[in-house]
Amino acid sequence: MQVWKFGGTSVGKPERMHSIRELLNGDPNRKIVVLSALSGSTNALIAIGEAAKAYDDAKANSLTEDLKAHYMLFIKELYATTEGFEEGKNIVDTEFGFIKSLIGIKPFTIKQEKELVAEGEILSTKMFQAYLEEKGESSVLLPALDFMRIDADGEPELATIEDKLVTILNQYTDKQTIITQGFICRNPREEVDNLKRGGSDYTASLIGGAIRADEIQIWTDIDGMHNNDPRIVKRTFPIRELTFEEAAELAYFGAKILHPSTITPAKLRGVPVRLKNTMQPEAPGTLIANQTSDRDIKAIAAKDNITAIYIHSTRMLNAYGFLRRVFEIFEKYKTPVDMITTSEVSVSVTIDNSENLEQISAELREFADLEEHDRDQNIICIVGNFSADKEGIALKVLDAMKNIPIRMISYGASEHNLSLLIHSKYKAEALNVLNERLFYYEDAMKDIFTAP
Ligand code: ADP
Ligand code: ASP
Ligand code: MG
Repeated sequence: MQVWKFGGTSVGKPERMHSIRELLNGDPNRKIVVLSALSGSTNALIAIGEAAKAYDDAKANSLTEDLKAHYMLFIKELYATTEGFEEGKNIVDTEFGFIKSLIGIKPFTIKQEKELVAEGEILSTKMFQAYLEEKGESSVLLPALDFMRIDADGEPELATIEDKLVTILNQYTDKQTIITQGFICRNPREEVDNLKRGGSDYTASLIGGAIRADEIQIWTDIDGMHNNDPRIVKRTFPIRELTFEEAAELAYFGAKILHPSTITPAKLRGVPVRLKNTMQPEAPGTLIANQTSDRDIKAIAAKDNITAIYIHSTRMLNAYGFLRRVFEIFEKYKTPVDMITTSEVSVSVTIDNSENLEQISAELREFADLEEHDRDQNIICIVGNFSADKEGIALKVLDAMKNIPIRMISYGASEHNLSLLIHSKYKAEALNVLNERLFYYEDAMKDIFTAP
């Protein structure tokens, strides 16, 4: 069995849903199909939630009407028959009826907000399943809320997901296509919750890991993981093969094509992940598995909104136990640390979740001096095969960066990652200059020297 996930742009137009049906029919494997919301829908639902939270019911209702109009146009083109359209209209009326019932609830809490944003995936999956039904094709819709669970820290519970999913799937052994929602889940209070923005990738990987699928395919709007961020750098190219470790580093450090946690369950259960382009299905895409090609430097990614914290020990020399005390505070506030550098009396760390920064700083000040935090920083992460015997990798990277101020460097923690902390105003320049030097410069030099 395989798991195929289609993202927002891949389901965002009626003709794209038609193409998905063709893609599914062109492949003999049984599949669980995970769908995102139509592109733009989650943002629109969040905006409705903001208005409802501010008790601006007029605005919330008018945004809801606009969104509903978009869905009405969509279903007109999606279905070919009157019965199909009527079924689509039923779905749209029901779900928008529910959305409207949330507007005006007082107090409007996080619970209502989460129920509201879940509607994007509920609509797309119901509409798509009704479309397959219109075509007389065998499929079933599994509500993700019946099996996708997170714990009190927002972390998925893989064992529970596996138990529930295996039991449910046993009832549908005759179905070729099993459709479910990405992104949404239930929390320990049984409320509707989600896996954070872009979370449908994570759903696909959690399902693939849970059922030990043969393969997880993430279908999106680009032909695989590129060597650099194509939104910022012009000359990028798709990477054919990545290891789980390399892909995990890229996703975690900002390659938007994958939710940061996507690779974890797939790697845990050894399920290969293939990234494919819905607009160009014949392109090979990227295969993420245990094997990789041996190019040293594979790709670059950038993680935004980083805060750097500079901590000096007040006990000065030979202080032991200092790092433990520092990290206990980050643990207490459930704040992951991304980069660390140390000197004899100081340690610098970076975080991307600065929600509890004030409390963290106050507790650190009980035994350390803090410099002013550097906000608006960026981690530039260079990923590849950097085993300890490789020479010259850091030289190449730092040489490329010679005109950009670097605040921190992290190298050697794993064999796959070299990270640099810079101010975000240098991000685009850093990505571009690294791209030229690390992926094109040597080839260009070779051409010059071998020219007749
Ligand atoms: P989906 O809606 O299918 O989940 P996303 O927008 O979340 O799609 O992810 C795909 C987008 O990720 C691409 O259109 C591309 O602009 C962006 N992206 C950022 N970094 C990379 C990268 N290194 N390789 C490929 N795409 C990337
Ligand atoms: N619809 C959700 C979002 O926009 C999840 C996803 O698309 O992966 O964040
Ligand atoms: Mg995405």
